Order: sequence, then structure tokens, then C-alpha cells
Amino acid sequence: MLMADEPGARRPPPGFGRGGPPEKCVCPQCGYEAPKRRGIPCRSLTCPNCELPLVGEI
Ligand SMILES: [Zn+2]
Repeated sequence: MLMADEPGARRPPPGFGRGGPPEKCVCPQCGYEAPKRRGIPCRSLTCPNCELPLVGEI
């Protein structure tokens, strides 16, 4: 019998500071903004308008 029911077993590590840095991905051409996702580089995201890879902005 499996008892994989531990609470808090897969908790994400605490981020730096409070709230985390204001990171976002921005299209260099039209300024489209997309929220930065952890583990996903901005380059892997593309602007829906220009189809260009987004760049990170802090
Ligand atoms: Zn764009």
C-alpha cells in the first residue's frame, strides 16, 4: 500500500526578498509584454504580433 500523502512534500523553494524581482519579457519591436515564467527563458517566448523572440527586462 502506498502512502504518498505527505503535506508540503513538493514545496517550491522560497524566492529572494519579498515578492520576487519584477521580471518580464518584452517584445523589442512593439513593446508587447508577457509575464516572466520561472524556468522559461524569454527567448523561448514569441510576440503574438511580430513573431519575434521576447527579451528579458528587469
Ligand atoms: Zn511585437
